[in-house]
Amino acid sequence: MKPSSPESHQTRKIEPHRLGSLQKIHLPMKRFSESEEVDYLIVGCGSAGGVLLQRLARAGFNVIALEAGPFWDTERDWVSDESGSHQLYWEDPRVTGGTDPLALGANNCGKGVGGGSVHWAAFTPRFHPSDFEVYTRDGVGADWPISYDILRPYYEQLELEMPVAGPAYYPWGHPHGYPYGPHPMGGVGNALIKGCTALNIPVSIGGPVAILSGSHGERPHCIYRGFCIQGCKVGAKASTLITHVPDAMANGAEIRDHSMASRIELGKNRRVVGVHYFDREGSSHFQRAKAVIIAGYSIETPRLLLNSACPGFENGLANSSDTVGRYMMAQAGNVILGRFDQPVRMYKSPPAHALTEEFYETNPKNDFARGFAIQTVGPLPIAFGKQIVAAKRAWGWGLRREMMDYNHWAAFGLLGEILPWADNRVTLSDETDRFGLRVANVSFNLHDNDKKLTKAAKEKTTEVMYAAGATEVIQEARFAHLVGASRMGIDPRTSVVDKFGRTHDIPNLFVCDGSILPTQGSANPGLTIQALAARTADYLISQQSAIFNSDRREMTEPPIRKELAPAGTYGRGVPHLR
Ligand SMILES: Cc1cc2nc3c(=O)[nH]c(=O)nc-3n(C[C@H](O)[C@H](O)[C@H](O)COP(=O)(O)OP(=O)(O)OC[C@H]3O[C@@H](n4cnc5c(N)ncnc54)[C@H](O)[C@@H]3O)c2cc1C
Ligand code: SF4
Repeated sequence: MKPSSPESHQTRKIEPHRLGSLQKIHLPMKRFSESEEVDYLIVGCGSAGGVLLQRLARAGFNVIALEAGPFWDTERDWVSDESGSHQLYWEDPRVTGGTDPLALGANNCGKGVGGGSVHWAAFTPRFHPSDFEVYTRDGVGADWPISYDILRPYYEQLELEMPVAGPAYYPWGHPHGYPYGPHPMGGVGNALIKGCTALNIPVSIGGPVAILSGSHGERPHCIYRGFCIQGCKVGAKASTLITHVPDAMANGAEIRDHSMASRIELGKNRRVVGVHYFDREGSSHFQRAKAVIIAGYSIETPRLLLNSACPGFENGLANSSDTVGRYMMAQAGNVILGRFDQPVRMYKSPPAHALTEEFYETNPKNDFARGFAIQTVGPLPIAFGKQIVAAKRAWGWGLRREMMDYNHWAAFGLLGEILPWADNRVTLSDETDRFGLRVANVSFNLHDNDKKLTKAAKEKTTEVMYAAGATEVIQEARFAHLVGASRMGIDPRTSVVDKFGRTHDIPNLFVCDGSILPTQGSANPGLTIQALAARTADYLISQQSAIFNSDRREMTEPPIRKELAPAGTYGRGVPHLR
């Protein structure tokens, strides 16, 4: 690591931005100087950061995103190969612990422009209205400071912008339809339909999933090769790298890749003044900004706040509530695998293409609150091999024999709602990374409700697998989808940010990513994270320069700015069913 010097600020290496043929950008990217005080500095250009960047740029703000990972050139960097894709993940060191430690690293968080939306499977169910009032309805977890109805227009917007393919009528939560028609079924989807139908369980076929079922603008439709969580070199799967980032750049945003934010600088009057960061070579820099928005995901966002402790905020920036890092959540994500006599060929479709949310809501007959979903997953051979090792302890020739049977297996994933608990938290370890920054220490413990819910979800998913005709069923225990750890709420004593993502403690510091979720439902979180980002952007835009020079908090809902959607996305698709 090289020391910070005024010289290195001046000589920051300017990389040409690399955009593959998919992004279709022909403009040079705008470059701001570090001495220039930009309007907004966003830390992290992932699912939420990409949407936010695009909206703020379109509204005319000077905006930069610092991104720790690379700016992917999809042509050059990506391969349709399972083992070649691990570069997509955040694999920097982290410490994991607690009674039920989370597996961190590969297959966990994204790193690079697009963040987790590059490797996500792109399932895009909305949260249910009940998710926003879990405490009021069930006496557990927490209520959100906003209702489903407030987020609903943003769900509709993002479903058009990605866009999402799915059935014309989706029955769960708030029933609605999708802008693009559903996908055809792969072998795993057929198995889920068969199992659910035999047990009289409704099932959604062909989505909702942010994968093109027909061509869209210059993007081609899905070719059903199953490499979605390897990035989708084809460009049929939505990621902010291809849906929002090109539009952000065309409207004057700068993205600084390989730029690892290390500390947020607090100035006078409890206002932040910019962000320190390290470039690829380890040289340190400082970018001035009128306001800062952290969009680094549910582990790196609290880590950055904790690493930014300073006089006045000795326990971490914006942490007067001692809530930064707490109430981190992951969903129970057990994979249930079934062997069928006939070939299934689970690689021949996007892994995400059918699901049921029939068990999503609290059922008074259960001995636990909240619920779970059952979804298709389509592990490719290496992931399948690991599951076989975990479930059957197979090794050597035994493992090889099982692997030769790959085409006969189907995999369903359960998504179970684990509640927010104060002891599930991110703190700082004494270990440091290559920049000398203290790494995250993640502690995760399952509580009674979580264990009962997971057990019931496993049993139901196994029942569905047998009902589909499987002759052998095994399972791999795992968790999915980290969220929380900088949660939003009304009360500054029990939450980090308010309902627009503004930290309670610092008027020009915001958080905008999955870390602000107070609860997580049993829906995949990506659509909700991007919908929240679009709403935060509308709020910031409605405030104009007030965020930069006033401590007053305007709490009325902003006008919805549909016209700020990326070019060619607003208003396309088929009409929604009401
Ligand atoms: C295998 C897999 C499959 C998934 N499938 C689905 C799915 O089907 N549907 C769904 O809804 N969700 C899915 N998810 C989850 C989804 O990807 C995440 O919930 C979502 O991407 C989180 O969005 P975010 O904006 O909070 O963070 P991210 O998208 O992860 O963005 C954070 C960005 O910030 C950057 N960053 C972090 N710290 C710093 C720093 N200090 N300085 C600079 N940059 C920084 C990171 O590099 C990253 O690019 C999946 C996740 C995995 C692992
Ligand atoms: S299955 Fe479709 S969405 Fe998935 S990687 Fe292939 S083309 Fe992309």
